Amino acid sequence: MDGNAKPAFAMRESIMIETARKKTARLLLGWYDTAGRDLPWRRTNDAYEILVSEIMLQQTQVPRVLPAYRRWLETFPDWQALARAGTAEVLLAWAGLGYNRRALALQEIARQVVENGLPDSEEGWLRLKGIGPYTAAAMTVFSLKKLAVPIDTNIRRAGARLLLGKPYPEPRDDGKLKPLLAEFLCGSRRFDDLVQALFDIASLVCLKAPLCPTCPLKSACSASVGFLAGAHTMPSRPSPASRERRHRNKPHPDRIFRGRILRLVREAPTGRPLEGLGPEIDPTFDPAHDQAWLDAMIERMVVDGLLCRSGKRLKLPA
Ligand code: SF4
Repeated sequence: MDGNAKPAFAMRESIMIETARKKTARLLLGWYDTAGRDLPWRRTNDAYEILVSEIMLQQTQVPRVLPAYRRWLETFPDWQALARAGTAEVLLAWAGLGYNRRALALQEIARQVVENGLPDSEEGWLRLKGIGPYTAAAMTVFSLKKLAVPIDTNIRRAGARLLLGKPYPEPRDDGKLKPLLAEFLCGSRRFDDLVQALFDIASLVCLKAPLCPTCPLKSACSASVGFLAGAHTMPSRPSPASRERRHRNKPHPDRIFRGRILRLVREAPTGRPLEGLGPEIDPTFDPAHDQAWLDAMIERMVVDGLLCRSGKRLKLPA
């Protein structure tokens, strides 16, 4: 047997893979150029505006983020404005988005940037307190225009189906997925658009129950044959909400009640009396079983910097 047969075969195979990836990227960008979402944070290179969108989009859907994003940029147009704002002002501007600690984290990041300057690498972003691996990679791609691989739930789902053939990927698949995504992205000068296109295909087509028959990538996707044949069953996983802290028979996790407390405090410029708070956030409130739970929740919010006590009233921190 010819000693060069194996390397030649391996080379042919890698050329075929490369060609297939380029074809997939072309299909995806072609679809994105006509069907992708036109979102304001995609029309800017400003790192501050991009970071605001990234933090807001963690845990909150695009339609709810859009009006809040515009309002936020009017109130705090740049790093400096946000860094010097008072906590109450920041929490008021975050109204409607939920997961309120993100507002304080965003302000903390702004203060670090004002003090130390803008990071110029993925590692630099990662060094900032409040920035995790996903956000550091997203900032690198979208604001620095350098190659990085941001993997969130959406990118994981679409990317792993497309490149790994894994119908219902989990975070533990990221180790295999990341190098494949890096190769997929680095083959295109429009790698930043490719990341946005993956977000959009995951949000509009490659849903948990994917719409493969109408997907523009079905001819190139490693998971499409199985989905189209009905061979993949959606695994039953506990929803993220069911893993959250929850008090006895309450229908919602504590997060929802914390949000209600903060909304009432936001709406009371002179402070919200503690008295009567329980039944207002929870119609089934039973002091005998729920008062200690409410007190502990308030205490955690005070520790988190979301509330402060003033006598028998709750206020936003100054
Ligand atoms: S063909 Fe199906 S699984 Fe593959 S990317 Fe499209 S929607 Fe997702």
